[in-house]
Amino acid sequence: MLDAVTLDAIEKELSALLEDGSEPSAQRAKELVETLEAAVEANQQMKSEPVQQKLRTLLEEHPWMASDVVEREIGVIANENASIRSKRSKVIAIANRMTEALAPHVACRAGCSSCCHMNTIIYEHEAIRLAEVSGRKMTRLPFRPSDVVFAEGLKFNGRPCPFLVENRCSVYEDRPLVCRTHHSLREDATQCSMEIPTSLQVRPPMYDPDNLELPYRELNVMHNLMEPHGNIAEFFPD
Ligand code: SF4
Repeated sequence: MLDAVTLDAIEKELSALLEDGSEPSAQRAKELVETLEAAVEANQQMKSEPVQQKLRTLLEEHPWMASDVVEREIGVIANENASIRSKRSKVIAIANRMTEALAPHVACRAGCSSCCHMNTIIYEHEAIRLAEVSGRKMTRLPFRPSDVVFAEGLKFNGRPCPFLVENRCSVYEDRPLVCRTHHSLREDATQCSMEIPTSLQVRPPMYDPDNLELPYRELNVMHNLMEPHGNIAEFFPD
């Protein structure tokens, strides 16, 4: 299952490649078609009974995780007379509660890092935080529209995040929001293996990350419409 922005980026790239028609373009188009096929497979896995049962159990145990309840909670945070820093940290606190609630249901374990080889898109304020806590030099990126950011970020698919050290996140406590919302509701992590080529990876079934990512995006856009965002490796190329 790909999000709408990524799907849009893939479709645009695909039509440009097909128009170009060269050998390298044909190879890249083949990879993108495989990615779309994997998205169809992911959709089917999401609808499977074991995954749906896990989601039902999760919401019975944690009714506050229903999408409308989360939306209302973040709406209240967004309207508070508080700094953006305070609002963001409250959303991160919700993400942490979600991680705890999801823990008994996910296949993810310490040392499992396949997600950290994907197209990880972060905001500039998150990159600034990572630079502060890690001491690493950060590159400033220009503002680009989201579809451009996602399309350009796809070239990092399959490469390890610059903060991945021996298959563990070296900035775990300060990791970006997107790293907190992704997980797998499969029984085990074998289908996440990095031995499967990235273009054939099937996105695992998840509690919908958009429940948190979309309102977080809205919060950020309200604060700064033109905040640069990009793949984490673009901010930290060294
Ligand atoms: S910041 Fe940490 S959790 Fe996020 S992709 Fe990088 S290594 Fe993985």
